[in-house]
Amino acid sequence: MSAFPVTPRTKLKRAPQRGIFERPQVYQILDEALICHMGFSIDEQPYVIPTIHARVGDRLYIHGSAASRMLRHLKQGVQACVTVTLLDGLVLARSAFHHSMNYRSVVMLGTMEEVTDLEEKSEALDAIVEQVMKGRTQEARGANAKELKATSVLVMQLEEASAKVRTGGPIDDEEDYSLPIWAGVIPTVLQPSAPIPDSRLAQDIPLPNYVQSYLQNRGIA
Ligand SMILES: Cc1cc2nc3c(=O)[nH]c(=O)nc-3n(C[C@H](O)[C@H](O)[C@H](O)COP(=O)(O)OP(=O)(O)OC[C@H]3O[C@@H](n4cnc5c(N)ncnc54)[C@H](O)[C@@H]3O)c2cc1C
Repeated sequence: MSAFPVTPRTKLKRAPQRGIFERPQVYQILDEALICHMGFSIDEQPYVIPTIHARVGDRLYIHGSAASRMLRHLKQGVQACVTVTLLDGLVLARSAFHHSMNYRSVVMLGTMEEVTDLEEKSEALDAIVEQVMKGRTQEARGANAKELKATSVLVMQLEEASAKVRTGGPIDDEEDYSLPIWAGVIPTVLQPSAPIPDSRLAQDIPLPNYVQSYLQNRGIA
């Protein structure tokens, strides 16, 4: 798997030592993130819109209502910027200036096009559902013809992307290390809570195994 090329647009100028261009690491961040933000410009007004994504190989999919302004605009092939961010910790330094966050983020540049091939569209929609809850497509009713028609799927071929990762503790000025001020990192994770069954769920339907595994893997019994 080749690394992403470092282009004039993706070369990190600020803290370049935090940059990562190897596809496996970039994809790991992309796959862990539950949402992305789509950046694009309409009539010189930038918009940054949050949405769900899924990656299949070197292709990034998003979906939504066929009436969505975002999707209708992006499918024209305009320049887009997609970001994902995973927050790993709050970094409390001795000085206000050196406070920071630990994170893993990815910035992807390119254009999107509409997926018209029905097989690819169906696979992309499955991938998006699986991104939210692995195993769900085995159980959920698949989209019918009317739902498929009402849904647009767009794809970006991943060719230009960068990741940036900050880890570790605060980096204070040398003279500040002797100050009597607590400093360190407060790790953060996205944590699910106990599931709430739908009010119209039949009493005899148990929590699926894949949901139980999902919760157990995250420390919820
Ligand atoms: C949770 C979080 C909090 C942050 N808080 C701050 C803050 O408060 N102030 C601040 O200045 N910066 C913050 N950053 C870092 C910020 O994302 C930018 O990296 C930084 O501001 C430099 O921006 P720039 O445009 O000068 O980058 P440049 O180095 O000029 O960007 C050039 C190219 O590098 C790549 N790149 C830059 N940043 C990232 C990134 N984060 N992820 C992946 N690729 C990237 C892109 O391809 C970009 O086009 C934060 C990042 C995260 C994820």
